[in-house]
Amino acid sequence: MDGLVVENLHVSVDGKEIVRGVSFTAPKGVITVIMGPNGSGKSTLLLALMGHPRYTVTGGRVLLDGEDLLALKPHERAQKGLFLAFQSPPELPGVKVYSFLDEAAKRLGLSVDRPIESILEGVGLPRGYADRSVHVGFSGGEKKRFEVAQALFFEPKVVMLDEPDSGLDIDGLRMLSEKLRELVAKGRAVLLVSHNPKTIEYVKPDKVLALVSGRIVAEGGLDLVERIESEGFPVVSE
Ligand code: ADP
Ligand code: MG
Ligand code: MG
Repeated sequence: MDGLVVENLHVSVDGKEIVRGVSFTAPKGVITVIMGPNGSGKSTLLLALMGHPRYTVTGGRVLLDGEDLLALKPHERAQKGLFLAFQSPPELPGVKVYSFLDEAAKRLGLSVDRPIESILEGVGLPRGYADRSVHVGFSGGEKKRFEVAQALFFEPKVVMLDEPDSGLDIDGLRMLSEKLRELVAKGRAVLLVSHNPKTIEYVKPDKVLALVSGRIVAEGGLDLVERIESEGFPVVSE
């Protein structure tokens, strides 16, 4: 299958199993949402998919356009077209936005002649932010906007976003939902993680998965979001 395929993935952190046999697909041209309560393993799942060294995959398979990703280092996964917008993006004092993006583009083998300033404007950041240090002094919402800008700049095959809505105002939410639609219209796969039903209703995903205690416990559409909003997450016994 085209896009991201995750099969029976198990992930441990410091010897504790956090993701406990997760299977799903994030096809191209589709917005897939993973909803889950705090501590359910959402960030662990995305960081493990990206290849973060702290997260040990103890079982399962991950394919991007049919190619195995688990044997690859994080930068190799990025070169294959996987991108993660972090829940808490790190500040990079002294690294300017434009040089960060240019350098990363070079490493990804992309042309460096990309319209940084218009992308910044498109996510609601002033053009002058190209000259600022990455995330330094950015407000919470501005950090989220810059993460979305990166997704637009790199045009990855699979865009994973970890709670891109936290700190975003209502205009920011509208921007996020428009930009995610643009990405899927261009044939990208979008995998959005959030625990906020309002955001998800805004984004109007094609598919919704509920992650509880490291397992996918329900799958549906907006009906599932509404059910979770009124009844809470399904309770699973350990
Ligand atoms: P979510 O993103 O759904 O809120 P996380 O994936 O951040 O959940 O965390 C899931 C569980 O794994 C939590 O119990 C958390 O304490 C634990 N965990 C995650 N990352 C680490 C880590 N680096 N060290 C220790 N425990 C971790
Ligand atoms: Mg959390
Ligand atoms: Mg998280």
